[in-house]
Amino acid sequence: MTDIVTFGEVLAEFMATRINQRLGEAGQFAGPYPGGAPAIFIDQAAKLGSTAALVSAVGDDDFGRMLVERLKADGVDTSSIATLADETTASAFVTYYDDGSRDFIFNIANGACARIAEAQFGPVLEGCKLFHVAGTALFSEHMIELARVAIGRVKAGGGRISFDPNVRKEMLDRPGVREALTGLLSSTDILLPSDDELNVLVEREAESEAVARAFELGVSEIVLKRGGDGCRYYDGSGMRELPGFEVEEVDPTGAGDSFGATFCTLRSQGMAAADALVYANAAGASAVSRQGAMEGTSTREQLDAFIASHS
Ligand code: ADP
Repeated sequence: MTDIVTFGEVLAEFMATRINQRLGEAGQFAGPYPGGAPAIFIDQAAKLGSTAALVSAVGDDDFGRMLVERLKADGVDTSSIATLADETTASAFVTYYDDGSRDFIFNIANGACARIAEAQFGPVLEGCKLFHVAGTALFSEHMIELARVAIGRVKAGGGRISFDPNVRKEMLDRPGVREALTGLLSSTDILLPSDDELNVLVEREAESEAVARAFELGVSEIVLKRGGDGCRYYDGSGMRELPGFEVEEVDPTGAGDSFGATFCTLRSQGMAAADALVYANAAGASAVSRQGAMEGTSTREQLDAFIASHS
């Protein structure tokens, strides 16, 4: 029995060491750092003490071994991560600009994780309390279909679904993508959009209208991630807003995944939403203050210490 399961990319990430270093320019890179939204999410869930499994695939190479070892060391059940002899592990390159923006080069759709097979969901979904769908994992029709199959099984077993749409506007214009993502909302219990993602997805300008539309589709909790401004929470009976903790932002990659995993994991452990939001906000703030997407995940003890020192 596994409490929390997600699927999708796990990747080796390389970061330009100089601000404004364009990715095509010669320069130094730091890494490899473990990354990939689903991998960060599940790492954070395991650090909070839930049984947590990632369904993914890596190549039979050093990046793949490094990623699996790291997840294992953090307590993740890696038995559903396939090692594929003829594929390479996914990778990403990132650079930061002084206006706060980032550029990425992703090698995901051509990587081993694009070859995840339905059979890998085997026994891992039995008794699953929460299945998380990271929008970044829905990069092909095959991956969208895998999400549908897994969601069907988890729902039939009484589990809940969380969904972080992670929408890139270009992606929504591809045939069938908007319909697929909107369709997912009707299976979603906890929705974790950031900024105007929900507006873009459901095509409503005002936040209140977008939220109302998501509830109409069947969502029961919405946690809106607002970067340094913290978060807003809607549960159909009202809205709660929390300001962000004050930290120095070093690396924003992965904050949303640490935040979302903390909220969902603590909720599935029975914590009240009001308390889970404080921990999630702390997890997001801790994540941005450390370099490396997965380096930002925290244990419960670390979050308690963070909250105590920032109150
Ligand atoms: P995403 O990475 O999905 O776009 P955000 O950037 O909104 O998500 O970050 C997720 C959460 O992390 C925020 O809701 C907030 O709680 C926390 N966070 C992000 N950036 C900062 C920051 N600069 N200072 C404090 N907290 C932050």
